[in-house]
Amino acid sequence: MKKTIIIILAVLALIVLLQDFFLKKKKNTPLSPRPYVVMLSLDGFRWDYQDKTETPNLDFLTKNGVKADGLQPAFPSKTFPNHYTIATGLYPGNHELISNSFYAPDINNHYTMGDRSKVENGKFYKGEPIWVTAEAQRVKTASYFWVGSEAKIKGYQPTYWKKYDHNFPYEQRIDSVINWLEKPYGERPHLVTWYLDQTDGVGHKFGPDSPEIKTSVHYLDSIVGIFINKLNSTKIKDSVNFIIVSDHGMGALTEGKTIYLEEHMNLNWMDTSFGKNPFALIDAKEDCADSIINSLKKIEGLSVWKKEDIPERFHYKQSKRVSDIVVVADSGWTVTYKNKGRSYTGGTHGYDNTNKDMYGIFYGIGPNFKTNYNAGTLYNVDIYNLIANILEIKPAPNDGTPENIFHVLKE
Ligand code: AMP
Ligand code: ZN
Ligand code: ZN
Repeated sequence: MKKTIIIILAVLALIVLLQDFFLKKKKNTPLSPRPYVVMLSLDGFRWDYQDKTETPNLDFLTKNGVKADGLQPAFPSKTFPNHYTIATGLYPGNHELISNSFYAPDINNHYTMGDRSKVENGKFYKGEPIWVTAEAQRVKTASYFWVGSEAKIKGYQPTYWKKYDHNFPYEQRIDSVINWLEKPYGERPHLVTWYLDQTDGVGHKFGPDSPEIKTSVHYLDSIVGIFINKLNSTKIKDSVNFIIVSDHGMGALTEGKTIYLEEHMNLNWMDTSFGKNPFALIDAKEDCADSIINSLKKIEGLSVWKKEDIPERFHYKQSKRVSDIVVVADSGWTVTYKNKGRSYTGGTHGYDNTNKDMYGIFYGIGPNFKTNYNAGTLYNVDIYNLIANILEIKPAPNDGTPENIFHVLKE
């Protein structure tokens, strides 16, 4: 009797062990071929633009995929730092593309987004963009414009990429993206990033609440529709996860709320200054930083910090590239210099990244995404981990928190 019980217990233990072994094996073995990810960025598309006009295609994504209430950008809420945060999962203070223009003492060089020789210089780009992570793991990628994709980073670049051409027609960009997805298996990219600028320019000129923004949103929605239709005619349509993000939102500017810095401080205290309206970096001449701070901190509508006092929540001050002083205007305010002018008339971004007007969008649809799922607020620093997970590649160390975004995926 005792012997029989021992044998039964031993058999049961063996069954449990074997089950565990096979389950573990199953977990490590991909059940299906590697999925695809196509990520589109709509520059400056604010979190609430979908509600401003008819958007049948974004409504389709909302119903059949994942939509966030808002995508919080990283600080500063500018185009270049945020596209590169989405790509790397690192805060600008850590990937060090700290603004659209800045001085990099580590390589003794200035970065400006309008200068091709800088944009294509890999030394400016720290961290590891998702296409580098993928290419290094032998997963092909392509990019139809994405900040950083025009430079070799850690020796890698997307297999297919384009030089930035602001005026290149949107529908032709779509055709190239579709062509890439129709390539034979061995040449086909598993990750495609692409970019459309329009809502940013229209938002700056006319403001986020203008009729022009409604027209632009409606038009971009139709572009998304054209892309989805073309995607549906490809062989791999059922394996593609389509993500739409934006780098930041847009805040309306208020007439009369303009700060000209030279009306408040002596420009001779300043060595160099980068940016304006509403975010600027200032390098002070020796022993002049305190004078600048004391003059600027009294101004209504402006926040000013000495580098070491920049709030921790911005994850910013650790970069050597951040200047001595950071200046950010409050909502609705413009901060600039008389010789630089206001530039923007309707709206701008670059305000505090927790300002809701600065929030962008996140949509995700495809085999890996939940359907009809409201994701609440997401953070753009988490998108790198999400894409790495979908593409089944090992992410590089980054600032993202997987739990903050993995809930958008099917279990
Ligand atoms: P901003 O509104 O100043 O933060 O920057 C927006 C501008 O960045 C857009 O008007 C685009 O023309 C420009 N831009 C976006 N991506 C690139 C790129 N890869 N190369 C050069 N300029 C770009
Ligand atoms: Zn932008
Ligand atoms: Zn902009």
